[in-house]
Amino acid sequence: MFFDPLATLRTHRLPVTAQRLAVLRAVHSNPHATAEHIASVATQDLGSISKQSVYDTLTTMVERGVLRKIQPVGSVALYENRVGDNHHHVVCRSCGAVGDVDCAVGYRPCLTASHTHGFVIDEADVSYWGTCATCAKNRKTAVKRKTNTKTTPKQKTTTKKRKVTT
Ligand SMILES: [Zn+2]
Ligand SMILES: [Zn+2]
Repeated sequence: MFFDPLATLRTHRLPVTAQRLAVLRAVHSNPHATAEHIASVATQDLGSISKQSVYDTLTTMVERGVLRKIQPVGSVALYENRVGDNHHHVVCRSCGAVGDVDCAVGYRPCLTASHTHGFVIDEADVSYWGTCATCAKNRKTAVKRKTNTKTTPKQKTTTKKRKVTT
């Protein structure tokens, strides 16, 4: 995806500052990152920026629709620059990794409510929960390790016993 931070700020009529550009670049290269992580990336990029001003920049850009803020249950707020489409997220229960999932139908509200209560519904906030590939792999190796440590001492004791009997 081609991304031009300068054009993005201009389209949203936000004054172009070195800090805004740095924050935008940081969000673009770290989608679904926390404000703290974005602040550290932007600081590496630009030298010294105060954390608070990065947080303020993020808030302004969310308000202007430059960035989208998502907050999966039990997670801190995460930021991304993929805006304007109704995409959803898949979240790892173990490590909190987040991935984009395209909207099932391509436009809001994606899901039709079984009962609207008379509301005009414009959005369905869908989160898919599961275990990411890395955590699934780690879990498998952890289980293997567990069974290995369980069987090794048993084998040792049996060989000892054998030694005794012979
Ligand atoms: Zn995970
Ligand atoms: Zn996303």
